[in-house]
Amino acid sequence: MYLGDYIAIDREIGPFEFECESVSTGTPFLARVDEDKRDIFRDRSWLDGRPTACRFLRPSGDRILCTIHETSPAQCKFYRCVVMQVFDPAGALIGRVTGTLALHSENRELRAIWEAGLREIPDESADVEARLQKVLESHGYRVE
Ligand code: SF4
Repeated sequence: MYLGDYIAIDREIGPFEFECESVSTGTPFLARVDEDKRDIFRDRSWLDGRPTACRFLRPSGDRILCTIHETSPAQCKFYRCVVMQVFDPAGALIGRVTGTLALHSENRELRAIWEAGLREIPDESADVEARLQKVLESHGYRVE
């Protein structure tokens, strides 16, 4: 809600793509609105009267979401406390992943799958979170 001055949009280069900059470090990044958030992104009215909010934030039900979750800059990924919650097939919460892609779980099987996934996916991959989510889902876990 207060990072609007720190995430600058320099240029819109496509319908859902933007050249941006993390102002505090001067780091450029390419933002692409997540496919599943494009509908809520289109409505910019929520930003009216909220000058301090990041331009990529949007309300969704009773939550406020980052619409560039997959391509948000490193600072945001580190800042976020929890980027994924992992549920077993029975619906029990068995793990949490923090912004540094650290899994916190007592479940050995889940930890092994997570570690294997991290080894397979290159660090520089822009969609590492989405790919790890798919790995977990392929093993029957639900990820939010
Ligand atoms: S996490 Fe997303 S909405 Fe929040 S400041 Fe970063 S880019 Fe903006």
